[in-house]
Amino acid sequence: MQLKEVGEFGLIDLIREGTIVNPENIIVGIGDDAAVYLPGHRQLGLLTTDMLVETVHFDLTKTTLWQLGYRAIAVNLSDIAAMGGNPRHAVVSIGLPRQFSVEQVVELYQGMKEICHEFGVNIIGGDTVASPRGMVINVAVVGEVEPVNLLRRSGAKAGDLVVVTGTLGDSACGLDLLLRPGWEEYEFAWPLVTAHLTPRPRVSIGRKLAGWGATSCDDISDGLASEAHELAKASQVGIRLYEERVPLSADLLQAADLLGKAALDYALYGGEDFELVFTIPPEISAELLAAELPFTVVGEVTEPAAGVVLVGRDGQAVLLEAKGYNHFR
Ligand code: ADP
Ligand code: MG
Repeated sequence: MQLKEVGEFGLIDLIREGTIVNPENIIVGIGDDAAVYLPGHRQLGLLTTDMLVETVHFDLTKTTLWQLGYRAIAVNLSDIAAMGGNPRHAVVSIGLPRQFSVEQVVELYQGMKEICHEFGVNIIGGDTVASPRGMVINVAVVGEVEPVNLLRRSGAKAGDLVVVTGTLGDSACGLDLLLRPGWEEYEFAWPLVTAHLTPRPRVSIGRKLAGWGATSCDDISDGLASEAHELAKASQVGIRLYEERVPLSADLLQAADLLGKAALDYALYGGEDFELVFTIPPEISAELLAAELPFTVVGEVTEPAAGVVLVGRDGQAVLLEAKGYNHFR
């Protein structure tokens, strides 16, 4: 069905169904001039937004609309996770080319509703406009965090360990695979492509990190090298990472081989893993690292003068460039 057959208001009626998954704090959702919600008692409010633009961030021949919807919410939840917060409500603005169908918009929202349901996030509003060229989707999420659970990029201290969740580089390699016809025939390609298209934000780990003693945190949206620089700058410290400790998945190693690329480069400079990188004093971390959590110590925090360096397998330290994806470079 064409968009003009249902119109803006008909479309919003279709979108509205199933958007409220946690009704207790919602007074007004979609349908008025603004949404109304009850903020949590003694919580700090978090607010973040991320915009995805067709051809810059996604290619509709490589992603389904369901996956795009999922991802658009996921990248915002990752920012809330990196602050130690609980994501609560989202608003979604979409710019749609005229040839878009109602079914396509419904599929986009199905992907969003799936991840919102998983993480208990309500969609409480948005905006819908026609776009003369290409699709745009912007999501903003409000979250909450108890003051004691707040994590910032500042706070790392010399001597802390640098720890990451999960494995790094999978998403960037998944994107390279997607751009290469025939990737479907390789079994190892599927988890990498999935990591790229539908990343899972580390909300439950982020919620616990401050309580466990973490001193700073960032989510890995632009590659470990770039995020290490962000933590170093915000905390006014140096960071030393060890090449041999960077966690790389077996799938990534196989795929990098196929593509003739260095697996480590995907982890350092590739980005969009939406894992967390955090710092934690060594005395606190022993117990934590022994627990069955997806944590890897990749380095340590140093004095600021030491800069951000990578120690290679030969034991030589080299300055680590902050390169990663940067829109205006
Ligand atoms: P207004 O003109 O007052 O800004 P709209 O007519 O744009 O309101 O929107 C009507 C209602 O539908 C509002 O609650 C708005 O938040 C919601 N809404 C509009 N577009 C979307 C969308 N794409 N996703 C979710 N909610 C939407
Ligand atoms: Mg209005």
